[in-house]
Amino acid sequence: MKTLPMIDTVPPPPAQARRVVDPPARTAAGPYRAYKAAPFLREEREHTTLLCGGLHWRAERLAQGALENLGYQVQILPTATREDLLTGRELADIGQCSPTSFTTGNLVNVLREKTHELGAEAVSKRFIYFTFGSCGACRFGQYHQSYELALRSVGLESFRMFLCGQGDGGKEPVPGGGLEFDGPFSLGLVWAIVLSDVVQDFEYQTRPFEVKAGETARVAKEAVEYLYEVFRRMPDRGKTVGALAWHLSTRYFTTAMREVRRRFDAVEVDRLRVKPVVKLTGEFYVQTVEGAPNYNIHRWLEAEGAEVYPAAISIWIDYLLRFAGQDAEDHIGIDRYARLKLAGIHVGQGLLRWTYGRMRRAMGGVPHALPDQYELRRLAAPYFNSRLSGGEGDMLVGKALWAHQQKKAHMICELSPYACMPNTMSIGAMAAVTGKYPDLLYAPLELKGDSEVHALSRCQMILTEAKKRAQREYEAVLDLVGLTPEQLASRVTPAMRRSTYKVPRPGAAAGTAANFALHLAVGGR
Ligand code: SF4
Repeated sequence: MKTLPMIDTVPPPPAQARRVVDPPARTAAGPYRAYKAAPFLREEREHTTLLCGGLHWRAERLAQGALENLGYQVQILPTATREDLLTGRELADIGQCSPTSFTTGNLVNVLREKTHELGAEAVSKRFIYFTFGSCGACRFGQYHQSYELALRSVGLESFRMFLCGQGDGGKEPVPGGGLEFDGPFSLGLVWAIVLSDVVQDFEYQTRPFEVKAGETARVAKEAVEYLYEVFRRMPDRGKTVGALAWHLSTRYFTTAMREVRRRFDAVEVDRLRVKPVVKLTGEFYVQTVEGAPNYNIHRWLEAEGAEVYPAAISIWIDYLLRFAGQDAEDHIGIDRYARLKLAGIHVGQGLLRWTYGRMRRAMGGVPHALPDQYELRRLAAPYFNSRLSGGEGDMLVGKALWAHQQKKAHMICELSPYACMPNTMSIGAMAAVTGKYPDLLYAPLELKGDSEVHALSRCQMILTEAKKRAQREYEAVLDLVGLTPEQLASRVTPAMRRSTYKVPRPGAAAGTAANFALHLAVGGR
């Protein structure tokens, strides 16, 4: 019998998936040298564009306004995509964590496009990259090396990148003086982050309940554009002490936030929709961005019927201050200035929290308050050493327990990047936590960038349970107050239909509908 030829059923890979550049050289001609950027001169500032990104779009836009106010030309990188992930994997260390691959590929792809347009020399002269970094225990300390390796591979070895150390607050001066990490620079960025966090939190508390689909997103976009202008037009506020005094005492930002509140006032909501609250925790980058690096988890959860409790960047700043304070605590009796440093850090934390509280109040008190860092540390202490750095450290465990015990959420969704050592440790610690608290709904998702169905289906299983829990909680409240859903609905006043109406959350229930029902039962008091 004649043998049939083998039929190849696997289609050839699409053209764009093929390798586009040669792999990096595997042998080195000289010894390794740490990356050192060529100087960025003060006189270059006006005609050099600062590329930056890696946060959510609101924070990026407001930070852009704050930097433009200081005379910098700023361009925000687009949110990283799957294509960027593939480029990052192709050009830098293969074993790196997924945020490194995403951000490396993102930078390279943007620069490659600019190089096609302008040529490598012009790109190296006219653009610089600015990012945060550290010498941390994890890959965060090696981002620069990844970027450098990738840029060398695409012929952009003279491209300049500058790092603002997250641990030292950017004390290292940038050679050439083009970038000044001074008072107005740092304060502008911190205030941009605080205001964008407050807007983001408000937006995520509103969208799941909006009556007219798309209204929240539209108003949020307008509000962020308005705040961008507010930051871009900030008055001259002096250097260090003068700048700090102005930021703390001015009503410039609270007035702006009241205007944002006025715009959100028109968004009508129905808070009697029963939805599980899902608290996002995890590694900084994947819990912050909204896009492919975390499978667009914020939007996916909302589409599945959840209310998302996002991770504020201000909490991360508060954590970094607490971490620095711990170092001072450990040096009491060794370093004569340790107590003074600790007191200074506590003042810094107090001012950050006070500022966040001011912006929250300007938004009618609707956005969530920041959790107390020392409470998080206390909760996490039996499971995770507070001195271990990298990732979110003990805060990840502390936040999960805080959200569960204080009824802030029905479920915790932890976003863990592929190949992330600190998150692997946290997940290990969470095994002990869930052993002790078996009713804590916990969905740790490994984010590789290319295994979406696997991660989301895992999340969906826990989310199904969270939905049942939210429904049971709501029904228990109805039993308690002795009212039907129709009777509750009849008590909703026009003011309560506004997104800016604050529903008290005394801690008896996690769900918005359950809390609103309790509030309606006592006559909206
Ligand atoms: S915390 Fe994990 S994902 Fe983030 S930079 Fe460090 S190793 Fe990478």
